[in-house]
Amino acid sequence: MTKFIFVTGGVVSSLGKGITTASIAVLLEKRGLKVSIQKLDPYINVDPGTMSPFEHGEVYVTEDGAETDLDLGHYERFSHAAINRYSNATTGSIYSEVIRKERRGAYLGKTVQVVPHITNQIQEAIRQGAQRGIDVAIVEIGGTAGDIESLPFLEAIRQFGLKLGRGNVCYVHLTLLPYLKASGEMKTKPTQETVRKMREIGIQPDVLVCRCERPMTPEMRPKIAMFCNVTEENVIQEMDVSHTIYEVPLDLLREGLDDALVRILNLDDTAVADFTDWKELRRRFADPDGEIEIAVVGKYIELHDAYKSIYEALAHGAIHHSHKVRFRKISAESILDSSADQLLAGVSGLLVPGGFGERGLEGKIKAIQWARENEIPMFGICFGMQAMVIEYARNVAKIEGAHTSEVDPKCKAPVIDLMREQSGVEDKGGTMRLGAYPCRVIDGTRAAEVYGRDMVLERHRHRWEFNNDYKRQLERAGLTCSGIWEARGLIEVVEISDRPFYIGAQYHPEFKSKPLQPHPLFRDFIGAAIAFSHQDSENQQPKNEAVAAKES
Ligand code: GLN
Repeated sequence: MTKFIFVTGGVVSSLGKGITTASIAVLLEKRGLKVSIQKLDPYINVDPGTMSPFEHGEVYVTEDGAETDLDLGHYERFSHAAINRYSNATTGSIYSEVIRKERRGAYLGKTVQVVPHITNQIQEAIRQGAQRGIDVAIVEIGGTAGDIESLPFLEAIRQFGLKLGRGNVCYVHLTLLPYLKASGEMKTKPTQETVRKMREIGIQPDVLVCRCERPMTPEMRPKIAMFCNVTEENVIQEMDVSHTIYEVPLDLLREGLDDALVRILNLDDTAVADFTDWKELRRRFADPDGEIEIAVVGKYIELHDAYKSIYEALAHGAIHHSHKVRFRKISAESILDSSADQLLAGVSGLLVPGGFGERGLEGKIKAIQWARENEIPMFGICFGMQAMVIEYARNVAKIEGAHTSEVDPKCKAPVIDLMREQSGVEDKGGTMRLGAYPCRVIDGTRAAEVYGRDMVLERHRHRWEFNNDYKRQLERAGLTCSGIWEARGLIEVVEISDRPFYIGAQYHPEFKSKPLQPHPLFRDFIGAAIAFSHQDSENQQPKNEAVAAKES
């Protein structure tokens, strides 16, 4: 029988509930248990696909093509759980299902209400999210206890727990212990308050995970336990990490969270947890051999979450080489003709991520031109790859009027164009080319060397495509098409083959990178950047010496 862990949050948002949930999955998997992870989001959008990255951060795409919350990215990066379209449900998706059933007459004349119809549908979604054959289904509830929007979700998990009975369900509540500088102490009152709120709703948390910036003092634990009706050993401290979010599983392990969960759920765990790999990861993050700087030129640069998986994948690539990566985040719009050199000088690599629409595109193209001309390692993803094609078409192949028809539908040479099945699509939600498609990697290319395989599955989220009408012209000018979706003849990867790294991918490899298994493209992009930085400093040296000699 599958057991359930529900993770809720209190006091404030942004406590890192997603990372805590993902870490719980790691702890249980290390004890030999199979888990699934699911996120329930209280907002009304059916999925985050139509939201601006400024609202919600990146849209994370699953293998089966669902546009989901970015927390699912953490789940996949941390754990081995299979993440799919059932791994994320929202108020919007729940309601649209209930309304669809109501129109069909499925409620047999009843008045359709939040309780029981919406709460039943939420429980149905929870059952769907819990995959067959797993031991523990972990379910994170978005929002904060006390929000109007999250009430039906909390009511649903209360009922769900009641049906399953004690020993089969565990409620983990994440809370904050704020530190007051003026009095020099940490406060437990907000935690008592949020637990009181949970109990009013009918849920007694079994475990409290307490987020704090400094260690709890010895008298805090019994106090929290007593006021919140939780045993002392189930009060878990989760301090801010010092180097990386990938320390969190180890911190929670030290605090005994795995023991608490296994005890509460009467789990039959067999494996002796071996955390050697995670410890090695932490060691490398804490004590890297070197540091490099990568420029990321995008449209939503102010918000780290907008390119979450990209930054994570770059960090994975760097940690493979025992390096720390620094990001030079540059707003694409700020790059004008004259400023590319000034803004980009000194970086060891350039990454241009995905995006939509006109704003910033010309700046991205200028940055790419700068990287190509200066032979800097360059990695373009989705819109970034499309911008690489436009830049090459304009400046090398000399194709006049080269553009994407996304920005200029009447351009003379749409080197990036809409495919037939996409023209006429009016609905914005869930209608792009989404999810995993097979890509053949062409023998003898850089991409083939990087992957070491000839077939790969990578995830997509775009409407526009490389226009094959310009393939010959571009190839003749030196841009190699190194990956192709053969069934439709669509170009998935372009490169300059004799460069250490000048690759553009139409798909999003960042969604498949994990700290313990960096994606090969990110691994080798960073590898090329590190090599470039060494070469660059060697080239600088004689120059610097010459300058020094002159000055003296
Ligand atoms: N706007 C481009 C398209 O739809 C690229 C999308 C993206 O970068 N995710 O094709």
